[in-house]
Amino acid sequence: MPDTYTVAFLGLGHMGGPMAVNLARAGHRVAGYDVVPAALDAARSAGVPVVESVAEAVPDADVVLTMFPSGRHVLDAYRGSGGQPGLLALAAPGTMFLDCSTINVDEAREAAQLALGAGHRSVDAPVSGGVVGAEAGSLTFMVGGEADDFDAVRPLLDAMGKRIVHCGAHGAGQAAKVCNNLILGVSMIAVSEAFVLGEKLGLSHQALFDVASAASGQCWALTTNCPVPGPVPTSPANRDYQPGFAGALMAKDLNLALNALHSTGVAGRMGPLAAEIYDTFAAEGGAGRDFSAIINDIRERSGTTPHKTATAHDDGSPE
Ligand code: NAD
Repeated sequence: MPDTYTVAFLGLGHMGGPMAVNLARAGHRVAGYDVVPAALDAARSAGVPVVESVAEAVPDADVVLTMFPSGRHVLDAYRGSGGQPGLLALAAPGTMFLDCSTINVDEAREAAQLALGAGHRSVDAPVSGGVVGAEAGSLTFMVGGEADDFDAVRPLLDAMGKRIVHCGAHGAGQAAKVCNNLILGVSMIAVSEAFVLGEKLGLSHQALFDVASAASGQCWALTTNCPVPGPVPTSPANRDYQPGFAGALMAKDLNLALNALHSTGVAGRMGPLAAEIYDTFAAEGGAGRDFSAIINDIRERSGTTPHKTATAHDDGSPE
């Protein structure tokens, strides 16, 4: 593969738009495309060269990068749908298919098999870091695929991210992402329940934080994304739960975890429960809020508010 790549960048949404900007800035020849004209216009204004159809971008591409909402979008695009030719058929033999969408592990493996069967190369590379990370070029990429294919896409991933981890064979990137987010979803519920319990027991937020953050309750949900305002000033709780990581995305990722639990026969109990909790949260107004706002759902069902029950102010000073 060359040092700089010709990249068909498909899916210029919240994440794809800024990722394409960073690729273009790094000197790669980007041809961006999105089915939604507004996304195309926004990317063009941000400096991404865009095209009006995939047929203009894909045949000349070294790499076809997809950043779509779901696995169904990826598989439909690869195969073609609605009478439109698929990406696999449009691409020149040996093209690298790099999917950065978050999709089911089984779908990622299927996408890889489709690409390999059509004479192409394939890597799954879902991300974490959100829109802020996409804009800053500081995403984490979790990568599944052959070692030489990982090496080949590395310059592209370096242009969009800071931490690039080769997790194993096809689908391993998605597997790593789904396992991590299962931990995250469950741990945020546990941390939130602990804070609401602390409120009921008369503990200040700061006192609980000071103990748990330096004890065995320590975790990212507590020490970085703390669901109460005060102890971690940068957490979304301090800005009325503006995301951050939106409830809709947590619900989506926990449903991917649920599917993986089912397809592997793992008898998980917390994962399915967390998926159900975040589905309800997203459906009842939490979709666009940071997922740590789940604490308010717990408070509502507990008949409590933080200010009536805490014995010290949120900043830890005595009342
Ligand atoms: P988004 O909905 O903003 O963007 C997806 C884009 O894909 C849309 O603009 C849509 O029009 C386009 N699209 C769909 N089908 C297409 C096709 N066939 N051809 C061209 N364009 C097509 O979603 P997003 O927030 O950018 O997320 C993208 C992916 O990244 C998702 O899988 C999501 O789970 C994952 N992700 C998102 C975040 C986040 O914070 N937003 C964080 C980590 C991972």
